[in-house]
Order: sequence, then C-alpha cells, then structure tokens
Amino acid sequence: MKPTRRQFLTAATSFSISYAVLPRVGFGQQKKPTRIILLGTKGGPRVGETGRSNPSTLILINDVTYVVDCGYGTSKQLLTAGIALNRLRYIFITHHHSDHNLELGALVYNAWITGLPAHIDAYGPPGLTQMIRDFFNYQKFDIDTRIEDEGRSDPHNLITSHEFDKAGMVLTNDDVKISACMVRHPPIKQAYAYRFDAKDRSIVISGDTTYAPELADFAKGADVLVHEVMYLPGIDALVRRLPNAKRLREHLMAAHTLPEDVGRIAAQADVKTLVLSHFVPGDDASITDEQWSEGVRKYFKGRIVVGKDLMEI
Ligand SMILES: [Zn+2]
Ligand SMILES: [Zn+2]
Repeated sequence: MKPTRRQFLTAATSFSISYAVLPRVGFGQQKKPTRIILLGTKGGPRVGETGRSNPSTLILINDVTYVVDCGYGTSKQLLTAGIALNRLRYIFITHHHSDHNLELGALVYNAWITGLPAHIDAYGPPGLTQMIRDFFNYQKFDIDTRIEDEGRSDPHNLITSHEFDKAGMVLTNDDVKISACMVRHPPIKQAYAYRFDAKDRSIVISGDTTYAPELADFAKGADVLVHEVMYLPGIDALVRRLPNAKRLREHLMAAHTLPEDVGRIAAQADVKTLVLSHFVPGDDASITDEQWSEGVRKYFKGRIVVGKDLMEI
C-alpha cells in the first residue's frame, strides 16, 4: 500500500505514528539505506599489534552518523571509512571501560578542530558529563590558545551530554528510535546494549555482556545483532602470555560471552543476521573465522558474519 499524502505528512512530524502504520522499506522520507560499519572489533584496552582496532561501531541512518563507543583509534577509523570528522553527530557509550570511551574527548576535539562541526549529542551512563568536562580541562591550554590565537569557536558549546541510569528510550527523531537495555558486565553495573529501529532496518549492539537472556528479548526480531564474543582457548593462551593476569581470566569469564551463548541469544532473539565483534582476544591471528563461529552455529541457524574492521553490513 502506498502511503497517502496525509500519512506522509503525519509521518514527517510524528515518527512514532509513522513507524507503526507505514511500510518500513522504501518509505520516501528516508532516502539513504541504513548502513553499519565496524570501525574497531578488538575487545579490551590494549592496542592490538595487528589487524583490529579498539571497539567502535558506526551506524549511518539517512546519512547521519551514530557512533557507538569510542575506543582508541576511532577518529582514524572514521577517516579510513570515508567519514569526515566534522560529520560526527551522535555518540553512544555502552559503559565506561576505557576500550569503549578512551577516545571520546579526542574524537569530539577532532570534530571541532576539523572545522564547521555539527552539534554533537552524546548519550551514556553516569560519568559521561564529568568525563567530557575533564577532557576540556585536560586540553584547556590548547583550546584557550586556539580560541585566542586562531579565532576558533568555543568547543564547550559543541557537545551536549545526556546521561541515563536505567533501561528505556534514549533518543527518538524522524529517522530512528534508539533504546537501551541493561546488560550483565560485572563489576560494572551501568552497562547497556543499544537498539536502533530505523525505518528500513533494526540493529542491536550488545555492548559488553556475559550471557544475558534479557538481551534476547531486547533484540527480538532485529535485522542485525552485533554481539561481543570471547573464545576460551584463546583466553587461556592470552593469560599465559600476559604478566599480572591472574584475575584477568576470572573477570573475562564473568563479564563476556562464549560463542555457544552468543548463538543462544541470537537464536532466542530470532535475528536475521548475527555479526560477531568485540573479539576477546582480539589480536590472536591464529584464531580462525571458523573457530569464532563454530560454537555459535550449534544454536543459531541464521547468517553469521565474523566481523572485521571497516567491514560494512
Ligand atoms: Zn570492552
Ligand atoms: Zn567492558
């Protein structure tokens, strides 16, 4: 059924109505298809020697940028993906482990210094506002100097932070509804997954979590689930390699998801495509795509993508 003009106008002003009653594909309000680009797929704070950058995922909805997590290297990866840094518009932080926020301030700075930046809205758990304030303090000398010496705008006005501390709707605009679900990532309590319901596509990003059945409900029927994954034999090899890693294995087991459990979640959620990302360990090139996915496949019969940096889904 083609939307009538009246429906069309209604949809332009009220997304919640248009989302419910209009066809999701080919709707004229949204000209560009929703894209997902994996910017960084290596879980954990160490900078990887090869292959994978630290966690970040870009979603482009109607050509507007939504960056989920800002691990080290996010600015560079955006540029490599062909996204000018002054196009940064929305940032979402899943939780405050540094592999998810280390470049938050620097990314905002880089958008500012590129010139003609868009306003940036950042969303995340408590601590976000202070973190941004602290970054501006950290770079106070440089920022004050450039405002005075180069006539730059004041970057403090460039970004608005929005903290939340429970599950629910995070942002609604004409293109997308974005909601958050609390996941299980001890000892961190404020850890979230995000769901993006665009007109043509629904996408869930798990954030960091151990097996969390509530995530399956949250991701129900999504087109794409991007889920973290941990490979146990790789962890044991990692722990052997690292000094001072006694408690690391304990933390990883309590806080991340093994392939079989990723498969269970994807199957329960009945998603179309499962994308593995946030690989732990993320810089062990000896682990093959088949090894990452074989445990998943025992439970999930849909399409499995073993994520790589800069891969588009
Ligand atoms: Zn992480
Ligand atoms: Zn984490």
